Amino acid sequence: MRSHHRSDTDEAPTETTESESPVIELTDVSFGYTATPVVEDISVSIDPGEYVAVVGPNGSGKSTLMRLLLGLLEPDAGTAELFGVDATAFDDGARVGYVAQRAGTGQDMPITVREVVKMGRFPHVGFGRLSAADWRIVDKAIETVGMTGFADRRITNLSGGQRQRAFIARALAGEADLLVLDEPTVGVDTESVDAFYELLDVLHADGITVLLIEHDLQAVTEHAERVICLNREIYFDGPSAEFTDSAALARAFGTGAQSLTGGGG
Ligand code: ADP
Ligand code: MG
Repeated sequence: MRSHHRSDTDEAPTETTESESPVIELTDVSFGYTATPVVEDISVSIDPGEYVAVVGPNGSGKSTLMRLLLGLLEPDAGTAELFGVDATAFDDGARVGYVAQRAGTGQDMPITVREVVKMGRFPHVGFGRLSAADWRIVDKAIETVGMTGFADRRITNLSGGQRQRAFIARALAGEADLLVLDEPTVGVDTESVDAFYELLDVLHADGITVLLIEHDLQAVTEHAERVICLNREIYFDGPSAEFTDSAALARAFGTGAQSLTGGGG
């Protein structure tokens, strides 16, 4: 359904190709907006096709970490690489779909879902017009997120969940192979949240790398394969199932947090 940036040749690789390097590689990253670091000594490597969730209390540095790995902020110390390139120098925006925290709220541009999704093609067509093939990709992306019936509706006239799906469709139209989502379901009704996670599962099964910041620990343990628990430093990084039982949960969130995951205790 979509092309991945993976090589599908049978040749034995003689050198490490770009497609085999980690999608995201942070090495000893520290950063502070002031002299006080808000993330400290972070080393994380995420491989193509992983589904990783970042959890942590409010103000623990999750959104800051996202901005660092996307190259929107520069580390005070350490290095951040995206697809094997220094994150701040990375310029293939089409490969990365970023759905920011509360994306689109307060946005009163009178544009439709289809126009938003069309933007995903801009890195591919430059200043040119979209071809028929580009439009097919746009419409396919809208269909994938289940928004065909809303394609001509203005994004201001959508629910929060529908709007988030439109932004995901934009990333899909760009043929992004990394999807970074910062608390995408905040303010989204429960039913839409379920549909949203089903969509992420489908995209992950299709080979897209998913990095999700999420406050809902239950959703995280149900859907993501790997959890990174952050509270300025990394408290835990491992399989979701192990996170629920780990001491990191209580250390980062305080005791009683385990009930948040629906687990016993
Ligand atoms: P989270 O996403 O986990 O809630 P953030 O990364 O947004 O955490 O924030 C981490 C810390 O950095 C908080 O103490 C927050 O107040 C501070 N912070 C976030 N953004 C800025 C900014 N643009 N300028 C100054 N301080 C900031
Ligand atoms: Mg945040």
